Amino acid sequence: TRTPVNVTVTGAAGQIGYALLFRIASGHLLGPDVPVNLRLLEIPQGLKAAEGTAMELDDCAFPLLRNIEITDDANVGFAGANVALLVGARPRTKGMERGDLLSANGGIFKPQGKAINDNAADDIKVLVVGNPANTNALIAQAAAPDVPAERFTAMTRLDHNRAISQLAAKTGAAVSDIKRLTIWGNHSATQYPDIFHAEVAGKNAAEVVNDEVWLADTFIPTVAKRGAAIIEARGASSAASAANAAIDHVHTWVNGTAEGDWTSMGIPSDGSYGVPEGIISSFPVTTKDGKYEIVQGLDINAFSRARIDASVQELTEERDAVRELGLI
Ligand code: NDP
Repeated sequence: TRTPVNVTVTGAAGQIGYALLFRIASGHLLGPDVPVNLRLLEIPQGLKAAEGTAMELDDCAFPLLRNIEITDDANVGFAGANVALLVGARPRTKGMERGDLLSANGGIFKPQGKAINDNAADDIKVLVVGNPANTNALIAQAAAPDVPAERFTAMTRLDHNRAISQLAAKTGAAVSDIKRLTIWGNHSATQYPDIFHAEVAGKNAAEVVNDEVWLADTFIPTVAKRGAAIIEARGASSAASAANAAIDHVHTWVNGTAEGDWTSMGIPSDGSYGVPEGIISSFPVTTKDGKYEIVQGLDINAFSRARIDASVQELTEERDAVRELGLI
């Protein structure tokens, strides 16, 4: 039998955590034959609710779930972690300036990065979901000098999945017929969903759509503002779809992309496509054997260039702000 994989989830008592933990325990994160140990990290006020969730996890009698540990100590929570899902974050509240938001989250992600550095397993893979996800991932990465930087990633898979769904609806195709879609940049309103290299049932998506006005005025803003539209409709932020995207992100990272397709991940830039080295930006990537590679050689037209640059500019400003705050 296989050795269990240690999976740490922060903010485990939150709504994304509630939608996420049961799918990890049922084998959707890593595969149907991989046993898991869950480590739930919460702030002290969240511990009791996390215990309740753990009781429900027990009650599911998941064959793959070996044990659950609940803690508010990051050194304990990340001990031996192979996969860490950093979901808990400080949300932006009314009237909060960007600097306040970044420093509140720095207070969470800097110590978590250090705890990962000091306690996690050598093969640790980190996904940051809590917003501002790209910059929170940068803060954690900078606090973990002994962990290879590329193990710190940020989630743009929800944006990727939303874009696939919108494109499928527009073209009447099945979601499984959409390939090679790319989210570039920041997981924020400036993100750029790119269909110029995407395919719809083997044909170029931009040519199939053939409607730049729809692209600029409907598709891009619909994908970028979907989170707000869901809050408006549901009265609460998206949770199940965010959890699903986190599952997809890690599953693809560990198990590989399909031949001829790619996915989108926020990863430390190596300078590809003019994105400054070190910032955590979304790119088209293929994955294999637990490693990812940026898809190279894509031709970036002027429409795409302007939008990628704008989102990357925002990330550069966030990086400069956290540097000024001494968080990286
Ligand atoms: P959620 O579980 O709904 O969200 C958690 C984080 O995910 C938020 O930062 C949220 O950002 C982000 N997020 C990213 N993508 C999405 C998306 N598409 N839709 C919705 N959210 C998204 O928050 P809750 O308040 O329900 O739960 C947070 C939990 O985290 C609490 O239990 C709290 O105690 C815990 N926490 C734990 C910490 C720790 O372990 N050290 C630190 C801080 C909090 P956004 O708000 O911008 O949507």
